[in-house]
Amino acid sequence: MNTAHIWQDIKAQLEAELEASTYDEIFASIDAIYEVKNNYIYLVVENDYVKKRIELMFLKKLNRMLEHHVLEKHEFRFLTSDEVDEKTRLSREKVEPTETSEYPRTNLNPSYTFNNFVVGLSNRLGYMSAVKVADQPGIVANPLFIFGDVGLGKTHLMQAVGNYVLENDINAKVLYIKADQFVEDYVRHANKKKYTEFSQSYEGIDVLLVDDIQFLSKKEKSQEEFFKLFEQLYHQQKQIVITSDRKASDLKDIMSRLTSRFAWGVTVDINRPDLDHRIKILEKKLNAETAEKDLIPKKVIEYIASVFDNNIRELEGALKRVLFYCTAFNCEFTIKNAELALENLIRPKANARDYMKDRVQNVLSATAAYYRISVSDLISKKRTRNYLYPRQIAMYLIKHLYDLPYKRIGQYFSNRDHSTVMHSVEKIANEMNLDTNIKVDVEKLILKCGEKD
Ligand code: ADP
Ligand code: MG
Repeated sequence: MNTAHIWQDIKAQLEAELEASTYDEIFASIDAIYEVKNNYIYLVVENDYVKKRIELMFLKKLNRMLEHHVLEKHEFRFLTSDEVDEKTRLSREKVEPTETSEYPRTNLNPSYTFNNFVVGLSNRLGYMSAVKVADQPGIVANPLFIFGDVGLGKTHLMQAVGNYVLENDINAKVLYIKADQFVEDYVRHANKKKYTEFSQSYEGIDVLLVDDIQFLSKKEKSQEEFFKLFEQLYHQQKQIVITSDRKASDLKDIMSRLTSRFAWGVTVDINRPDLDHRIKILEKKLNAETAEKDLIPKKVIEYIASVFDNNIRELEGALKRVLFYCTAFNCEFTIKNAELALENLIRPKANARDYMKDRVQNVLSATAAYYRISVSDLISKKRTRNYLYPRQIAMYLIKHLYDLPYKRIGQYFSNRDHSTVMHSVEKIANEMNLDTNIKVDVEKLILKCGEKD
């Protein structure tokens, strides 16, 4: 297949068919086919944002166009330049014969590094201990026992130890295994009576990372095996890191002979991150996801961080979803759109509404204070000018800042109907254009509501 011209032809066709701005933004910079493999034609795009946009909005069209250029069915696939780098790195690793370990190095997630771990009050101790352990495996804290609720970074931190050790010593044998895999592995060997083979497969480990040890519960035979392995590594001063969803003394269904040994080293717990910490985590993820800094306004980030407060995995998921939603539907990153993107995740969470309620209350009290009236007069049905005007301003501010539906705004003002709110908002918007005093009032109030820094 002569692929060289295919993309150029399709590109020309796209240029003719699409709006110039869309073409320029998405396709103009894609210049050559990266690879043709297994009936897929790979193209490289700048970042995840462009990739998702293409996949959602243009892929079908592109594949249809492609049909006219190829004899056998092919499809387009898109890679970001980061993914290409990663691919090249992996294939380079494959050919380099430095690999003497029988344990696959790729068993660690390469993005679970100390660098990517955002440190805050809730995990500082865990982080510091893990760094020390990674720096001097087997010496400073053995075993390192990390416990905490799901989604708070235990696996990440544990694997960061492994990645760090490997970075400094390419020949170190780091084994990451989930406790339930260990059990399965044991059962599989035991069924075939291949006990020696089982023990041999765990020989020669320098760093053993055992994730979610609670899964050893009630598996007595596996516990025995693990105990042996633990003893052996411990006495050879090989580093062991263990995570658990509860503290060692609460692991009731695991023999105490084993759990008591967990206390020989250092135990640290990871807790829920506070709001500031969550914001930092989101900012870090955002930097990693997109090339564009400040793609999402700070207040939208704050909104996401305020809603997802007890699990970092969910927090991350929410960010990805907002990114995807707003790029796919080509809409602005506003709180309102974030709310829409996250609707299904949030609905069960009352705190999303609480957050909005909070913001609205904030606008109401700031406006009332500014005009020296009470909040109850502000939201009342009293029609004197000194209440009416501030009320219209408040409605305008809520719409302008949070883009809530008119109907919902009306509910905050003694259940006024949506047309009243709409007229007020429009009236203020028009008057702002005519009267700079009003404009200044509004701007001052936006500042007072803390919505601009
Ligand atoms: P756990 O093992 O405690 O259930 P994970 O380690 O799997 O949690 O973490 C869940 C997700 O949150 C992972 O994607 C991880 O990278 C991310 N994460 C957790 N803690 C942090 C942190 N402090 N900084 C950055 N990302 C984090
Ligand atoms: Mg985990």
